[in-house]
Amino acid sequence: MDWEMVVGLEVHSQLLTKTKIFCGCSTRFGASPNTQVCPVCLGLPGALPVLNKRVVEFAIKVGLATGCTVAPVSRFARKNYFYPDLPKGYQISQYELPILEFGHLDIEDDKGAPKRIGITRIHMEEDAGKLLHPDVPGADYSLVDLNRACVPLLEIVSEPDIRSAGEAVRYVKKLREILVYLGVCDGNMNEGSLRVDANVSVRPRGREKFGTRAEIKNVNSFKFLEQAINYERERQIELIEEGGTVIQETRLFDAAKGVTLGMRSKEEAHDYRYFPDPDLLPIVISSEEVEKAKELLPELPDPKRERFRTSYGLPALDADVLCSARELADFFEEAVKLHSDAKAVSNWVMGSVLKNLNRDGFDSVAFSPVTPAMLAGMLDLVKNGAISSKIAKEVFEEMWTSKKSAEAIVKEKGLTQISDTSEIEAIVDAIIAKNPSEFERLKGGDAKLTGFFVGQIMRESKGKANPGLVNELLKKKMDS
Ligand SMILES: [Zn+2]
Repeated sequence: MDWEMVVGLEVHSQLLTKTKIFCGCSTRFGASPNTQVCPVCLGLPGALPVLNKRVVEFAIKVGLATGCTVAPVSRFARKNYFYPDLPKGYQISQYELPILEFGHLDIEDDKGAPKRIGITRIHMEEDAGKLLHPDVPGADYSLVDLNRACVPLLEIVSEPDIRSAGEAVRYVKKLREILVYLGVCDGNMNEGSLRVDANVSVRPRGREKFGTRAEIKNVNSFKFLEQAINYERERQIELIEEGGTVIQETRLFDAAKGVTLGMRSKEEAHDYRYFPDPDLLPIVISSEEVEKAKELLPELPDPKRERFRTSYGLPALDADVLCSARELADFFEEAVKLHSDAKAVSNWVMGSVLKNLNRDGFDSVAFSPVTPAMLAGMLDLVKNGAISSKIAKEVFEEMWTSKKSAEAIVKEKGLTQISDTSEIEAIVDAIIAKNPSEFERLKGGDAKLTGFFVGQIMRESKGKANPGLVNELLKKKMDS
């Protein structure tokens, strides 16, 4: 039978606020256990939560960037359940009145055609703590670290519009890119700043009714997301084809084995008994506030890509790479302001700049020792013929380590291109004199030897000979 998979995703993104959602405790990652806690985030009796306004600001940004409607009034609710890392016995979340609804994200399907994935809702909530299982033989206890309790999260819930693991990965990648562009989330999946729950079901292709879904919890890499969804698809199809039925349950992805495993279904029988949180006032957002937020929204990745293609005439690949991070796009644009050959700038940014950053272990162009102005200065020298593009590579490396301008380096090291005909002619003559039989063969029509002679001449000039002149002079010698 031809099966179709139906996937909906819930993405939890940790917001980049300095303090937690309902108290002033720090949200810094990696601090010693339980050093960033207070009565509010511990849920001690009598402690009252106060909403961090930044969280609302960040949520509105994300909502506007994903085409959501901002609710004029939304409300926090208590989601009641007992868990060891949730000392209050309830999580403050949003339920029937979320801050954002009815958005979308545009991706490509597996064939590269544009596809729109609906966003059902986006709501704010607090994170829970973390259980630590001591690596001590015979340990019959667990430890609780509550530093993460009450850290602000945005839960972004998609419509079940996703039909393949590839679409799921592209959706999360695009969402992550937007969150990072907006500066509201660092997108670090290793540290759990972005975690994905995937609801997966299958149905015979053409049938409208959804199959029973299983929820895969807390996937924290693109690779695992793809593996988990594909595994789950196969598992459900096999189960049904063998006459079994899929049960609605929560499953975990075991990355080491590459399989999803069912958790106890008892835990699934949650009745959260949501009710409005009596300690927190409804969140009221005026249309003026929404308009103001719209004006402050930065240019988003997709429109930026489109602009890079049309206004700089860059190929799609260049626009994709350059717009993958906001700082990289800014770096490129700053350089282009000073050196107008956009394609040349793009080649160097995508080539030497990214290669060196990668080599030196930097993940952002913000760490580049070569500034846009330095790059533009070097490209000016290439353009006006002062240095060859080969020498430029050497100058670039030198800029990278010394942080000096290209002009200073060229002057210091005497790297200026030789465009003096008589100087080059002397070198050409010398090389011909050294290789008389090869020259006879070249003259006799062995074109392969052109490369040999050009190489020798360039080496003799230490790469400084103007390549155009070298070719011209060599041809002249052959014809004479
Ligand atoms: Zn606190």
